[in-house]
Amino acid sequence: MKITQGQILARGLTHRCPNCGGKTLFPSASSLRLNSACPRCGLKLEKDEGFFLGAMSLNYGVTLIFFLTPVALLWYHGRLGDTAAIVLALIASLVVPLLLYRSSRSWQLMLYYFFLPQHLPANRRELSGHEDENV
Ligand SMILES: [Zn+2]
Repeated sequence: MKITQGQILARGLTHRCPNCGGKTLFPSASSLRLNSACPRCGLKLEKDEGFFLGAMSLNYGVTLIFFLTPVALLWYHGRLGDTAAIVLALIASLVVPLLLYRSSRSWQLMLYYFFLPQHLPANRRELSGHEDENV
């Protein structure tokens, strides 16, 4: 396989196209909009409708595990007052998903191609001519 799962992970964690490795997922460094296709290699980034519900789930899971659960535990063990816990939880619920928005979109693509690396055009070309063409 031309592009390995390790490369896919590295590219996903650095917001790069899983197919060509270009920094082409977003039109600009501050944009929240994902390009519909990679301008460098043409990989379709906007998959079917609902594909990025996975990104929302990742975003929610990371926010819950790494931000809201610690606040809840600190509050439960009496290290945070009621008001401070509520304010921190509200801030974490509103700010963290925005901060992780771009990353979660990239992570969703990364996970998709990590588990289905043969779906990358660069890997498909390598498979053509083999008995595995229907993958
Ligand atoms: Zn690309």
